[in-house]
Amino acid sequence: MKCTKYEALFTFADEKTFTEHLKTCPDCQAEHAKMEKVSELIQEVRPHFLKRKKTAAKLKIACAVFAMCLSATTLGIINLNTDISDTIKYGTTLTAEDLGLPVDSYGFILVE
Ligand SMILES: [Zn+2]
Repeated sequence: MKCTKYEALFTFADEKTFTEHLKTCPDCQAEHAKMEKVSELIQEVRPHFLKRKKTAAKLKIACAVFAMCLSATTLGIINLNTDISDTIKYGTTLTAEDLGLPVDSYGFILVE
């Protein structure tokens, strides 16, 4: 019959009881070897995982910077090109409200 004490001993028993049982029980030895393999695997995988998380954070920052640059460029074009600016301010087709931006009663974009 296969020994099923491994998990219980691993979780609740003290180190001495656990290792004593390991010495005498081949079933738990096999179980322990499996556990060590798993923890080895975790140790191996973890640095990769952390690296991936860092890359994701960098990507987020890059996206934010890109979005900021894009909006800055767009605003720059609007400021330089009065035609476009007038079209957006007074045009009948495109208002700030149409663009889904928060506007006050005058139709100006709300800036907090
Ligand atoms: Zn056992």
